[in-house]
Amino acid sequence: MTEELFRHDGYQFEFQAQVASTDGELVVLDRTAFYPGGGGQVCDTGTLNDDRVTEAFCDGNGDVVHRVPGHRFVPGDRVWGSVDWDRRFDLMMGHTAEHLLFGSLRRQVPDLEISKIFISPESKYVIVSKDVSWEDIRKALVFANAAIRENLTVTRIVMSRDDPDLLDKVRIKLDRIPEGEEISVVAIGDIDYSACSGIHVMETSELGMLLVDRKVSAGKDGVAIHFKVGDAAAYSATELAVTCLEATEAADSKPEDIVRAVSNMKKELEYARASLKDSARALFSSVRPKDINGTEVYSAAVFGAERTVMADAAEKVKAAGGVAIFVSSGETVSAVMASGSAGADCRSVLTDVLVRFGGRGGGKPDFAQGGIPCPEKAAELLRALEEEVAKSLS
Ligand SMILES: [Zn+2]
Repeated sequence: MTEELFRHDGYQFEFQAQVASTDGELVVLDRTAFYPGGGGQVCDTGTLNDDRVTEAFCDGNGDVVHRVPGHRFVPGDRVWGSVDWDRRFDLMMGHTAEHLLFGSLRRQVPDLEISKIFISPESKYVIVSKDVSWEDIRKALVFANAAIRENLTVTRIVMSRDDPDLLDKVRIKLDRIPEGEEISVVAIGDIDYSACSGIHVMETSELGMLLVDRKVSAGKDGVAIHFKVGDAAAYSATELAVTCLEATEAADSKPEDIVRAVSNMKKELEYARASLKDSARALFSSVRPKDINGTEVYSAAVFGAERTVMADAAEKVKAAGGVAIFVSSGETVSAVMASGSAGADCRSVLTDVLVRFGGRGGGKPDFAQGGIPCPEKAAELLRALEEEVAKSLS
C-alpha cells in the first residue's frame, strides 16, 4: 500500500520515496504526494527526479501508480518527487470552492442536490439537480465571498457512521459508504460540512474570490454551474463586468436596467416579426398574375419576407395551376418557385438562374427554392426568373 502523504498535508509538494515496483512506464512508490484524482478532482502531475509524471491514479488495491514515460527506475531506487505546485494549489482551491459554493447555493435552494463535480485547471463546475435563478446565485456568492473574507478554517473531522450529528449537519450519500467505515468530513468553519476525502486549502482566505461565470444545461442530470476561484475569478469578473457595460451601451441602457431592456427588445422584435409576416402574406396574396400562353404567372419581390410565407403563398398559386416566382430580400436574397404547369420546371429554371447570380438552390420540378448572397440584386434576379419562365411557357 502506498503511503498517501497528500492525505495528511495537502501543502507537501516535494518528497523522497523509494521505488516499490515498475511495469513499463508505470511506477509505484512506497510513499507519494501525488494526488491520484478523485471526488471530481483531476490528478496531479509533476516529476520524479528529472522525469515527467504525466498521470497518477489508484490501482484499486491501495497503490498509487505514476505514469512516467521513458523512465529507467528499478525497484529500490531512491527518487525525489515534485508535484506541479501551481496546478495542485489551483485544484485544492477549486475543490474547497466547490464545497463553499454548493453549501451556499443550498442555503438558497434547500432541496438542491449535487450530481457531479469536475475540478481541473481548465474547467471547474458542479452539476446540480435543477436550475438555480441568477438571483439565488447572486445571494449564494455574496454569502460565499463573505465567508472567504472572514477567513474560516477548513478542517477535516473523522466521524463514525452512527454519529447522530452526521445526518444532521453533513452532506453525505450514506449508501456509498460501507457499514462500519469511518467517515472523513470536511468542515468550513461551522457553515458547511461535507463528507469528502479530497484535498483542500486550510483557510478560506486562500480562495481570494469565488465567481460563477456560466450556467449551462446538463441534460437529464440538471444544470452545470461553472465557477472560478482566486485570480481567475478576479480576471473573469473584470471581463464580465466590461462585457456587461459594453452590452449596456449598445442597448442604450444602464447595468441595473439591462435585463429588462433586453427582454423588452426581444418582445418588440417578436411583435415586429409577426407584423412583417402578416404584411408579407397580404402583399403576396394581392399580386396580380400575368397571362403567358394561358398560364397565370405570379411574381413579386418583398423585403424581409420569411421563406415559409413565400412557400405558402407559392403553394396556393401552384394548387390553382399557376406559376409563382417569389423573391425576398434582406441581408441575403431568397427565392421560391412553385409551378402547377408542366411547361415550367422550377428546379431547372431556378438553379440555372441562381448560379448566374453566384447563389444556389434546388428542389423538384413543381417546387424549388434557393438564394443569392447580394441583396442589391433582388430586382434583377426577379426579372431574370420572369424571363426564363416566359421562355419556357412560350
Ligand atoms: Zn472535498
